[in-house]
Amino acid sequence: MGVSVVTFIGIGSNLEDPKRQVLTAFGELAAVPGSAVRARSSLYRTPPMGPSEQPDYVNAVVELITRLPPHELLVELQRIEQAHGRIRGARWGPRTLDLDLLIFGQEKIDNDTLQVPHPGLAQRAFVIVPLAEIAPHVEIPGLPNAATLEKQLSTTALSQLQRIL
Ligand code: ATP
Ligand code: CA
Ligand code: CA
Repeated sequence: MGVSVVTFIGIGSNLEDPKRQVLTAFGELAAVPGSAVRARSSLYRTPPMGPSEQPDYVNAVVELITRLPPHELLVELQRIEQAHGRIRGARWGPRTLDLDLLIFGQEKIDNDTLQVPHPGLAQRAFVIVPLAEIAPHVEIPGLPNAATLEKQLSTTALSQLQRIL
Protein backbone atom coordinates (compact mmCIF):
# COMPACT_ATOMS: atom_id res chain seq x y z
CA MET A 1 0.00 0.00 0.00
CA GLY A 2 1.25 3.46 -0.86
CA VAL A 3 0.67 6.95 0.43
CA SER A 4 -2.79 8.19 1.34
CA VAL A 5 -4.94 9.56 -1.46
CA VAL A 6 -8.14 11.59 -1.19
CA THR A 7 -10.97 9.90 -3.06
CA PHE A 8 -14.70 10.49 -3.45
CA ILE A 9 -17.27 7.71 -3.73
CA GLY A 10 -20.77 8.22 -5.15
CA ILE A 11 -23.46 6.11 -3.49
CA GLY A 12 -26.88 5.29 -4.95
CA SER A 13 -29.75 2.97 -4.04
CA ASN A 14 -33.38 2.58 -5.07
CA LEU A 15 -34.38 -0.85 -3.75
CA GLU A 16 -35.07 -2.43 -0.36
CA ASP A 17 -35.08 0.61 1.92
CA PRO A 18 -32.62 2.83 0.01
CA LYS A 19 -31.97 5.14 2.97
CA ARG A 20 -30.87 2.19 5.09
CA GLN A 21 -28.71 0.84 2.25
CA VAL A 22 -26.87 4.17 2.01
CA LEU A 23 -26.40 4.55 5.76
CA THR A 24 -25.06 0.99 5.98
CA ALA A 25 -22.68 1.71 3.09
CA PHE A 26 -21.19 4.66 5.05
CA GLY A 27 -20.10 2.21 7.74
CA GLU A 28 -18.84 -0.37 5.27
CA LEU A 29 -16.75 2.23 3.45
CA ALA A 30 -15.22 3.27 6.77
CA ALA A 31 -14.18 -0.38 7.25
CA VAL A 32 -12.38 -0.74 3.90
CA PRO A 33 -8.77 -1.78 4.58
CA GLY A 34 -6.24 1.04 4.63
CA SER A 35 -9.02 3.61 4.39
CA ALA A 36 -10.97 6.14 6.46
CA VAL A 37 -14.10 8.21 5.84
CA ARG A 38 -13.26 11.90 6.21
CA ALA A 39 -16.63 13.39 5.26
CA ARG A 40 -20.08 12.30 4.19
CA SER A 41 -22.78 14.31 2.50
CA SER A 42 -26.45 14.59 3.30
CA LEU A 43 -28.77 12.04 1.71
CA TYR A 44 -30.75 13.22 -1.33
CA ARG A 45 -33.85 11.77 -2.94
CA THR A 46 -33.50 11.99 -6.72
CA PRO A 47 -35.46 10.86 -9.80
CA PRO A 48 -34.05 7.83 -11.67
CA MET A 49 -31.64 8.35 -14.55
CA GLY A 50 -32.31 6.22 -17.64
CA PRO A 51 -35.28 3.81 -17.38
CA SER A 52 -37.98 5.87 -15.62
CA GLU A 53 -40.17 2.91 -14.52
CA GLN A 54 -38.22 2.43 -11.30
CA PRO A 55 -38.31 3.94 -7.81
CA ASP A 56 -36.57 7.20 -6.91
CA TYR A 57 -32.98 6.95 -5.73
CA VAL A 58 -31.28 7.96 -2.54
CA ASN A 59 -27.82 9.40 -3.31
CA ALA A 60 -24.87 10.59 -1.25
CA VAL A 61 -21.12 11.14 -1.59
CA VAL A 62 -18.34 10.09 0.79
CA GLU A 63 -14.81 11.46 1.01
CA LEU A 64 -12.56 8.46 1.61
CA ILE A 65 -8.86 8.63 2.40
CA THR A 66 -7.20 5.43 1.22
CA ARG A 67 -3.83 3.74 0.88
CA LEU A 68 -5.26 1.25 -1.64
CA PRO A 69 -4.43 1.55 -5.33
CA PRO A 70 -7.46 2.47 -7.47
CA HIS A 71 -8.21 -1.03 -8.81
CA GLU A 72 -8.06 -2.54 -5.34
CA LEU A 73 -10.44 0.14 -4.11
CA LEU A 74 -12.81 -0.71 -6.99
CA VAL A 75 -12.72 -4.38 -5.96
CA GLU A 76 -13.64 -3.37 -2.39
CA LEU A 77 -16.52 -1.24 -3.68
CA GLN A 78 -17.83 -4.14 -5.77
CA ARG A 79 -17.53 -6.49 -2.79
CA ILE A 80 -19.73 -4.11 -0.76
CA GLU A 81 -22.26 -3.90 -3.62
CA GLN A 82 -22.41 -7.70 -3.70
CA ALA A 83 -22.91 -7.84 0.08
CA HIS A 84 -26.01 -5.67 -0.48
CA GLY A 85 -27.38 -8.29 -2.84
CA ARG A 86 -26.87 -6.27 -5.98
CA ILE A 87 -28.08 -8.05 -9.11
CA ARG A 88 -26.84 -6.66 -12.42
CA GLY A 89 -29.73 -6.11 -14.83
CA ALA A 90 -30.45 -3.47 -17.44
CA ARG A 91 -28.08 -0.51 -17.75
CA TRP A 92 -29.03 2.07 -15.14
CA GLY A 93 -31.76 -0.29 -13.89
CA PRO A 94 -32.83 -0.49 -10.23
CA ARG A 95 -30.25 -1.62 -7.66
CA THR A 96 -29.84 -2.09 -3.93
CA LEU A 97 -26.46 -0.36 -3.97
CA ASP A 98 -24.22 1.36 -6.50
CA LEU A 99 -20.78 2.61 -5.48
CA ASP A 100 -18.97 4.69 -8.11
CA LEU A 101 -15.37 5.82 -7.75
CA LEU A 102 -15.79 9.48 -8.68
CA ILE A 103 -12.35 10.96 -8.02
CA PHE A 104 -9.03 9.34 -7.07
CA GLY A 105 -6.65 12.14 -6.05
CA GLN A 106 -5.34 13.90 -9.12
CA GLU A 107 -5.23 10.70 -11.19
CA LYS A 108 -6.78 10.26 -14.60
CA ILE A 109 -7.51 6.60 -15.34
CA ASP A 110 -9.03 5.23 -18.52
CA ASN A 111 -9.00 1.49 -19.06
CA ASP A 112 -11.52 -1.33 -19.56
CA THR A 113 -12.54 -1.62 -15.90
CA LEU A 114 -11.99 1.86 -14.54
CA GLN A 115 -12.51 5.43 -15.72
CA VAL A 116 -11.63 8.18 -13.27
CA PRO A 117 -12.83 10.88 -12.84
CA HIS A 118 -16.12 9.05 -13.33
CA PRO A 119 -17.46 9.94 -16.82
CA GLY A 120 -20.92 10.87 -15.53
CA LEU A 121 -19.66 13.24 -12.87
CA ALA A 122 -19.84 16.50 -14.82
CA GLN A 123 -23.49 16.05 -15.87
CA ARG A 124 -25.19 14.45 -12.87
CA ALA A 125 -26.89 16.70 -10.34
CA PHE A 126 -27.20 13.77 -7.90
CA VAL A 127 -23.39 13.54 -7.85
CA ILE A 128 -22.46 17.21 -8.09
CA VAL A 129 -24.75 18.52 -5.34
CA PRO A 130 -23.57 16.14 -2.57
CA LEU A 131 -19.96 16.52 -3.75
CA ALA A 132 -20.22 20.32 -3.63
CA GLU A 133 -21.73 20.01 -0.15
CA ILE A 134 -18.63 18.30 1.32
CA ALA A 135 -15.86 19.43 -1.05
CA PRO A 136 -16.83 22.54 -3.04
CA HIS A 137 -13.23 23.42 -3.91
CA VAL A 138 -11.82 19.95 -4.60
CA GLU A 139 -9.75 19.82 -7.77
CA ILE A 140 -11.21 17.39 -10.29
CA PRO A 141 -8.75 16.43 -13.06
CA GLY A 142 -9.96 17.91 -16.35
CA LEU A 143 -13.03 19.58 -14.84
CA PRO A 144 -14.03 22.70 -12.95
CA ASN A 145 -14.44 22.27 -9.18
CA ALA A 146 -17.69 21.01 -7.68
CA ALA A 147 -18.98 24.47 -6.71
CA THR A 148 -18.58 25.62 -10.31
CA LEU A 149 -20.22 22.48 -11.69
CA GLU A 150 -23.12 23.07 -9.30
CA LYS A 151 -23.60 26.63 -10.57
CA GLN A 152 -23.84 25.23 -14.10
CA LEU A 153 -26.74 22.91 -13.24
CA SER A 154 -30.19 23.92 -14.50
CA THR A 155 -32.79 25.02 -11.97
CA THR A 156 -34.91 22.10 -13.19
CA ALA A 157 -32.16 19.60 -12.37
CA LEU A 158 -31.60 21.22 -8.98
CA SER A 159 -35.32 21.30 -8.15
CA GLN A 160 -35.54 17.52 -8.58
CA LEU A 161 -33.12 16.90 -5.71
CA GLN A 162 -34.63 16.71 -2.27
CA ARG A 163 -32.39 16.67 0.80
CA ILE A 164 -33.85 14.04 3.13
CA LEU A 165 -31.28 13.49 5.88
P1 ATP B 1 -22.58 4.57 -14.55
O1 ATP B 1 -21.13 4.12 -14.48
O2 ATP B 1 -22.94 5.29 -15.81
O3 ATP B 1 -23.01 5.34 -13.32
P2 ATP B 1 -23.57 2.11 -13.47
O4 ATP B 1 -23.04 2.64 -12.18
O5 ATP B 1 -24.97 1.62 -13.50
O6 ATP B 1 -23.43 3.23 -14.61
P3 ATP B 1 -22.28 -0.40 -13.24
O7 ATP B 1 -23.09 -1.50 -13.83
O8 ATP B 1 -22.36 -0.19 -11.75
O9 ATP B 1 -22.62 0.97 -14.00
O10 ATP B 1 -20.74 -0.60 -13.57
C1 ATP B 1 -20.30 -1.14 -14.78
C2 ATP B 1 -18.78 -1.16 -14.78
O11 ATP B 1 -18.24 0.15 -14.73
C3 ATP B 1 -18.12 -1.83 -13.62
O12 ATP B 1 -18.02 -3.19 -13.81
C4 ATP B 1 -16.73 -1.15 -13.54
O13 ATP B 1 -15.70 -2.00 -14.01
C5 ATP B 1 -16.87 0.01 -14.49
N1 ATP B 1 -16.32 1.28 -14.01
C6 ATP B 1 -15.55 2.10 -14.79
N2 ATP B 1 -15.20 3.20 -14.13
C7 ATP B 1 -15.77 3.10 -12.89
C8 ATP B 1 -15.75 3.95 -11.75
N3 ATP B 1 -15.10 5.13 -11.78
N4 ATP B 1 -16.43 3.54 -10.64
C9 ATP B 1 -17.09 2.35 -10.64
N5 ATP B 1 -17.14 1.50 -11.69
C10 ATP B 1 -16.49 1.87 -12.82
CA1 CA C 1 -23.47 4.70 -11.22
CA1 CA D 1 -21.47 1.70 -10.72
